[in-house]
Amino acid sequence: MRGSLAELRGPAAPHPLDARALAALAANPGCRRRALLDGAGVDKTVLATALGTPAAFGQSQFAFMRGHAFEARVKADGGRELLRLLGPEEPHEVSVPDLAAAGPAGRAARTALALREATRAGGWTLLDHPMLALEVAGSPAYLEPDAVVVHPDGRWTVVEIKSFPMIDGAADASKVGAAARQAAVYVLALERVAAVTEGARVAHSVLLVCPKDFSNLPTASAVDVRKQLSVTRRQLARLTRVEEIAAALPEGMTFDVEACSADELRAAVDAVPHAYAPECLSACELAFHCRERAREAGAVEALGRSVRGELGGLTTVDAVLAAARGEAGDPDDPAVAALRRAAALRAQALAEREAAVCR
Ligand code: SF4
Repeated sequence: MRGSLAELRGPAAPHPLDARALAALAANPGCRRRALLDGAGVDKTVLATALGTPAAFGQSQFAFMRGHAFEARVKADGGRELLRLLGPEEPHEVSVPDLAAAGPAGRAARTALALREATRAGGWTLLDHPMLALEVAGSPAYLEPDAVVVHPDGRWTVVEIKSFPMIDGAADASKVGAAARQAAVYVLALERVAAVTEGARVAHSVLLVCPKDFSNLPTASAVDVRKQLSVTRRQLARLTRVEEIAAALPEGMTFDVEACSADELRAAVDAVPHAYAPECLSACELAFHCRERAREAGAVEALGRSVRGELGGLTTVDAVLAAARGEAGDPDDPAVAALRRAAALRAQALAEREAAVCR
């Protein structure tokens, strides 16, 4: 075994794994690079900047403040506003327990206790920013949903509060999809607690709260996350254990941005296998770095997973071009045959155009 995960990270405080990161990890379970960096608590935004390929996404300070103000509005009136969106006619009594405790592990234990007490009590309870624990690739991850509501019948509902608008009752499908994947991670973590809590069950439908039309009035919609839940469960179980990935690294390697030059960091990052796909551009801070490497290697993955799937055994752009030119590849391979046919059609089209220009 090489250095510990803390040594890989350096003296910086561990960057916590959140549900968004876990959802992205679950979307690309073959990427050892992301699994290791996330497992070691490396801040990938800082690392990407040090590599000279800063991430191109993230929330602006303005959007953050706006989101914060909207969330406060949704949770106003001691949680009654939020419960109204959830459906009960007029919830008179809403309990909002204090979840403060020292450190994430302490807060997760406090949350589990509050969930048990609320379920036993049988009323409406709003858990504001509870802390949930989930083991991922052998490392604990602590997750903080916006809220969890405990129903009088023992049901627990995850609440996701987003600042993108819901117009005429519908929001941007890609944003709803991302919120559903994130919420599925919370549901998964909550199920661990529910499994040891008598009378509890986790709703597989989460409450998505957004601003209504172009106002800042909250509106809500129930989102079924069963599909996302089963994908996330399966993908997270497939992740290689972080220690196993770390054990294959060269001795003394570190991602410490303070102690290493850009070249040393590049060598360290490139020592860990990656699985770049264009989807990384909207999900991972290291996307520009990995895309550069995938392009340098001529990997067909850089063109997209569906293209990669259609090309079968041809894994590089050079191999694809050689197959299309008839210089390599098995002509009985359907991918090679399709490439040669496409190349012949292209040559024919170019020849016809040239002939038309000369006339
Ligand atoms: S950008 Fe790189 S590190 Fe991030 S998930 Fe994609 S391949 Fe993995």
